[in-house]
Amino acid sequence: MNLSDQWDVLTEARRTLPVPVKSLPAMLGIKMKPAFLPSGISGMLEKNGESFLVTINAADPDTRQRFTLAHELGHYMLHRHLIGDGLDDDRAYRSTEVGKYHNTLIGPKEETEANKFAANLLMPREAIARERERLGNDVSKMANLFGVSEHAMSIRLGVPYPRA
Ligand SMILES: [Zn+2]
Repeated sequence: MNLSDQWDVLTEARRTLPVPVKSLPAMLGIKMKPAFLPSGISGMLEKNGESFLVTINAADPDTRQRFTLAHELGHYMLHRHLIGDGLDDDRAYRSTEVGKYHNTLIGPKEETEANKFAANLLMPREAIARERERLGNDVSKMANLFGVSEHAMSIRLGVPYPRA
């Protein structure tokens, strides 16, 4: 599947809430497996020849797994040329030496890009505007509807997160 078809898959997925992020790897032609990664690691993206494998820490809550997966898909879509053999993301979504890989080509700029990609994938702007009309700034209901953490949703809505 070429890059333009892959972007179409992502656009289509944004029409459903919660965005079916866990179906996306298969639809994009990459492998995914949940695994119990070291506790400091949220996700991993590996490249073997032309094939990619994304691993998500199965010990994390579902909302975090979804965000991690969206973040790794961001690296896959935006930073494919920098992945080398692989990368690990720590709990703050920074490339780290704690895991199997220490990818120094993925820096703060790339991490910010992957986080923005993840937020836009899981909380599409149009859907946020539409549902906000209905639910207002009810962070808990909005978070549930989009399948994200209340923290992620409060950032997206630009409202204070009471438990921060
Ligand atoms: Zn990352």
